Amino acid sequence: VSPTIVAAVERLMRRVEDFPAAGVQFCDLTPVLADPDGFAAVVDGLVGSHEVGSVDYVAGLDARGFLLAGAVAVRLHTGVLAIRKAGKLPPPVHSRSYELEYGAATLELPADGLDLRGKRVLVVDDVLATGGTLGAAVGLLDDCGAVVAGLSVVLEVPGLGGRDRLADTPLTCLTVA
Ligand code: AMP
Repeated sequence: VSPTIVAAVERLMRRVEDFPAAGVQFCDLTPVLADPDGFAAVVDGLVGSHEVGSVDYVAGLDARGFLLAGAVAVRLHTGVLAIRKAGKLPPPVHSRSYELEYGAATLELPADGLDLRGKRVLVVDDVLATGGTLGAAVGLLDDCGAVVAGLSVVLEVPGLGGRDRLADTPLTCLTVA
């Protein structure tokens, strides 16, 4: 990853202690995405070595991943997919539940009107922490018959096992929290 991209993220990112729970440092990328050079740098990094023709869709995770996925999809000349949190899509849906630190969450994709069988999908999000969210997205796309071509995130929070949990899929992290 180019030093320019890393520098843009480091310079603009806002770190907030003890949010959403005590002991967690929340990494808010809002100022990075709000900056024209910062946003362009992050999108460049997420595109990475992927080329036009190497993937069929770019999927973004609810909600900050949506902002990134749309821009990356335009660059790779693909369609874009929104992987939604439960309850936003009309039935029928594919769904995958996963454990959070407190409780559980569910991700969904439409089961009608979209045939992902054999399609290569690049999944993008802002932050990788435990890997539960991206792991569920991989499972969901697998249920849809898609092939996950790669996972690209802006920021990795180290020490939470996320990278190990996703070891079966090529992973790009632009920088470390
Ligand atoms: P996880 O499933 O634990 O990998 O968490 C990833 C999701 O939670 C991403 O969609 C992030 O937006 C959010 N998230 C988790 N930890 C943080 C953090 N320290 N700072 C910002 N966002 C986070």
